[in-house]
Amino acid sequence: MDRKTVNVGIESKKEVPAEALAAARHKLGEHNGINMSIEASNTFTFKDSDAMNRAFLGEVGPKTGIYIYSRHLNPTILNLGRQIAAMEGTETAYCTASGMSAISSVFLQLCNTGGHVVAAKTLYGGTHALLTHFLPQKCNITTTFVDIVDLEEVDKAMIEGKTSVLYFESISNPTLIVANIPELSKIAHAKGVKVVVDNTFAPMILSPAKLGADVVVHSISKYISGEADIIAGAVCGPADIVDQMRDPHEGPLMLLGPTMNPKLAFEISGRIPHLSMRMKKHCKRAMKYVTKMKELDPNLDVLYPGLKEHPQHSLLKSMSNKDYGFGGVFCIDMKTEGRAYRLMDKLQNSTKFGFMGVSLGYYETLMTCSSRSTNSMMDSKEKESAGISPGLVRFSVGYVGTFEQKWSQFTKAYSEM
Ligand SMILES: *Cc1c(COP(=O)(O)O)cnc(C)c1O
Repeated sequence: MDRKTVNVGIESKKEVPAEALAAARHKLGEHNGINMSIEASNTFTFKDSDAMNRAFLGEVGPKTGIYIYSRHLNPTILNLGRQIAAMEGTETAYCTASGMSAISSVFLQLCNTGGHVVAAKTLYGGTHALLTHFLPQKCNITTTFVDIVDLEEVDKAMIEGKTSVLYFESISNPTLIVANIPELSKIAHAKGVKVVVDNTFAPMILSPAKLGADVVVHSISKYISGEADIIAGAVCGPADIVDQMRDPHEGPLMLLGPTMNPKLAFEISGRIPHLSMRMKKHCKRAMKYVTKMKELDPNLDVLYPGLKEHPQHSLLKSMSNKDYGFGGVFCIDMKTEGRAYRLMDKLQNSTKFGFMGVSLGYYETLMTCSSRSTNSMMDSKEKESAGISPGLVRFSVGYVGTFEQKWSQFTKAYSEM
């Protein structure tokens, strides 16, 4: 059977993310509602048997309003995908049930058994575990972990003809290393290697695809959702990669089925118009906190790309989109686990500054001791090599309450340490 992969016809947008997003949202609902409709059908009918046959041959598809089954394509999820593609400036995007399913599907699409990945050694814990344990054991896909800042090391680790993916986070979790996306893309492309970037920490702030990356993945569960209530993800990239990921015979999204529920896609779509405002708020607050913290205690080890002394401060400035700051996450190093825990206990239970929790991108501040939580699956040598000290407290900065109120809650807890 001659089956064509269905091209969903999402056009690339070149504008800055906020403008591109506004343009992409202009789609009315079925009855001229100002919001898009929810297509809560898992299966779709055809005008006649010939149309059905042509749909299965891939001759007609979403461009002409024809769908088959929602694990393959659903109009509401496509609509959300259009918005995410506009935000990232990629040709297309598709949304998944989680960030991890987006990430694992991309690896399974771009690597075959016996394949090789070069990845940053500072990664989200789940991704690190996927590359360290799952992919080598189940698929014979191996990974060389590198210091993503060391371009020479990255270059040497990529084996022409064997390595198919260079993977890193735009701003790394939890160590906030900023990757030089244009340079890394150049050296990867010179060896025919695809660049995949996890942009979960920096939606709107950075547009990795415009800086040279091939594929951008997101955990929508974080900033894009913004309410810490949803697990979801997205794969953004060129149509020839993303559409193939839904190929009925070979695509990991189709065959492993990490499908998003269209009702959820609708809900997420309603949060995208204020993502830009929220990101600016997160960034502004984070910058204000770290500035005040440095004043409060000049000896406190504060990690934030907005600080001039951060090694990639100017790099991030040069890559980021206009009017955004340096991200909504900063870390302080309390040196020991005991002190880290004591501070978090006080901040949550005594002064009500924030909550202990592993996620990020929430409107309240979330705090975590990365070494024992999100990165607990790494052994102590791996943690040391990734720069995750036992007393590192990660703050995902919220924006509710006044700064003065929140700052007094922080200083009270800190003074009792
Ligand atoms: C949370 C997170 C993921 C995983 O996303 P889920 O939606 O939880 O599956 C991947 N990468 C980064 C950087 C994350 O913070």
